[in-house]
Amino acid sequence: MSIFGKHTLTTQVMVAMVAGAVTGILLSPFHAESAFVRDIVTGGLFHVIGGIFIAALKMLVVPLVLASLVVGVTGLSDLTSLGRIGVRALVLYLFTTAVALTIALFVAGLVSPGEGFKVQDADISFTGTEPPDLRQVLIDMVPSNPFAAMADGAMLQVIVFALLLGVAITLTGAPGKPVLELFRNVNAVVMRMVEIVMAVAPVGVFCLVAKTFSAQGLDVILPLAAYFLTVLASLLLHAFCSYSVILVLLARVSPRIFFTKMRAAMTFAFSTASSSATMPITLRSVEHRLGVDNSVASFTIPLGATINMDGTAIMQGVATVFIAAVYGIDLSTGDYLMVVLTGTLASVGTAGVPGVGLIMLSMVLVQVGLPVEGIALIIGVDRLLDMVRTAVNITGDAAITMVIARAENALDEKRFRDPRAGTIVGGV
Ligand code: ASP
Repeated sequence: MSIFGKHTLTTQVMVAMVAGAVTGILLSPFHAESAFVRDIVTGGLFHVIGGIFIAALKMLVVPLVLASLVVGVTGLSDLTSLGRIGVRALVLYLFTTAVALTIALFVAGLVSPGEGFKVQDADISFTGTEPPDLRQVLIDMVPSNPFAAMADGAMLQVIVFALLLGVAITLTGAPGKPVLELFRNVNAVVMRMVEIVMAVAPVGVFCLVAKTFSAQGLDVILPLAAYFLTVLASLLLHAFCSYSVILVLLARVSPRIFFTKMRAAMTFAFSTASSSATMPITLRSVEHRLGVDNSVASFTIPLGATINMDGTAIMQGVATVFIAAVYGIDLSTGDYLMVVLTGTLASVGTAGVPGVGLIMLSMVLVQVGLPVEGIALIIGVDRLLDMVRTAVNITGDAAITMVIARAENALDEKRFRDPRAGTIVGGV
């Protein structure tokens, strides 16, 4: 199936992203005045096509996580490695998030993005969210009804169910074999569905990016340029420096190859602003392009898409420093440590969908005694930052997956180094 000639999909989606941004910026002056642009082009065409594209990606998440994780668990040489992979993933995910927050606080401390910003410029009203009860969070990880969990897309619950199912299939022996065979086939078919959706991705990416840029316009950034650029710089620093160090030291692979092969997934994350909707593409990129075995990736990628949000944590760190400065409140060293701690937890609790990181920020602000209404100050530029931080979020999942794959001997080096491995040329 080819709709865009013989260029690789990565090239196609990147061209679509740039074309979408240019189109959106060109349309943005007409967005407020012209009903045709606002209701028919942006709110009609781009909204509908972009919405269909995101829905199609989301549609694949639950079947893919279930089938892929069941197959992955049964593919492990021994079940004890399951616990090891889980603990390693958890520790590394939390560690990189804490590093991300530290970088954000450091850069924000250097730049002081809140200085000179006047509160009266913004419309201040925002209601925060209550922190979840940790005990209930733990209980809720186990689905009392797996079908309801799948219907609701409750990812941690689906992961727990799939892990248990995979373990049980392995332990059952002969009667488990046909069940495994069924999941293997479902996994292959759903992966093919992912590729079919990916074939139309350039159109979807174009519409999503054009819609955001035309509705937002770049003028919203100007009053908040210092905040915007501080978040952006911290995101880029973490994505390209921290992950490169991790990839070289812990995964012993070339960051250049890693980033080249992750470009398509990063573009998907940027245009959808949802780690969860991008999950099928992240999983495919990590397995087919980077060469990580399904037994590791099928576990660490869905888990990462649910709990590992380094980009979100960075935004929360910079936003806290920004809001403190705007309200003239000094943060002590203890406050900074509190921001690292609660920011890490708040990003874990952030769902991989657009905009939730900003809502969870209220948890961090409350902990250090800052006004939750401060969130209203930065809401205007959040959508664009959300797109960039989501790309960082999924890159973090992939980088840690590389580290675990290396430790578990589950990395196909030949595939990793092969530039053509897993590429989609001109369709599926
Ligand atoms: N949109 C982000 C994600 O899906 C979450 C957030 O920061 O709002 O990863």
